[in-house]
Amino acid sequence: MKKILILLGPPGAGKGTVGEKLSEILNLPLISTGDLLRESVKNNTDLGKKAKIYMEKGELVPDEIVLAIVEGRIKEDDCKDGFILDGFPRNLNQAEILWKFIEKEKVKVIYLKADDEFLVQRLSNRRICEKCGAIYHLINIPPKVDEICDKCGSKLIQRQDDKEEVVRNRLKVYYNLTSPLLDYYRKKNILFTIAGDGKLEEIVSEIIKIEKNA
Ligand code: AMP
Repeated sequence: MKKILILLGPPGAGKGTVGEKLSEILNLPLISTGDLLRESVKNNTDLGKKAKIYMEKGELVPDEIVLAIVEGRIKEDDCKDGFILDGFPRNLNQAEILWKFIEKEKVKVIYLKADDEFLVQRLSNRRICEKCGAIYHLINIPPKVDEICDKCGSKLIQRQDDKEEVVRNRLKVYYNLTSPLLDYYRKKNILFTIAGDGKLEEIVSEIIKIEKNA
């Protein structure tokens, strides 16, 4: 059976950072639809051009685009033992379609919970590496050298959609479209809630414990 972890939570709850750590420890690929979409935008593909319009406003990219990306990615060879999803699914339609692919696997959904002011604070201090996508926080996880990625030496940038007004819209979209997934997975008895505002190491070890339990 494949091990599948779904990281659920509002933007800024730490899904990406936590996902990177879990991916290293559990040796499972991290699939971030946000990263995959940003990659398409950077490469200026047809798909990227379409997605960009939605992403800049903090709206969801249409399901057919995202589903095509995810479906292709989870069929790749490195996903044969399982994978970690960050930022997908994001609405009920995506969740239901995903479920058809994974219902026979060992699936756990981790809900990283945090309140709005914390999220806005965290996102406005977030910087990412323009090349490798590594995530920093100016106060909590600062780079060793200002504005430079520790991992690859490239420049750190602020995501367009991490500007405050876009963040507020992303939160609205989250509450309207994504938060109903909490009930969806709760009913399946596979939802585990963790405070997203704790220490990274503690959050990660908590999730590892959950993952190891049958
Ligand atoms: P993220 O990096 O997960 O915050 O995603 C950044 C942006 O990419 C979101 O605000 C959406 O515009 C888009 N996006 C990422 N994942 C999805 C998804 N599963 N469905 C629709 N849009 C998505």
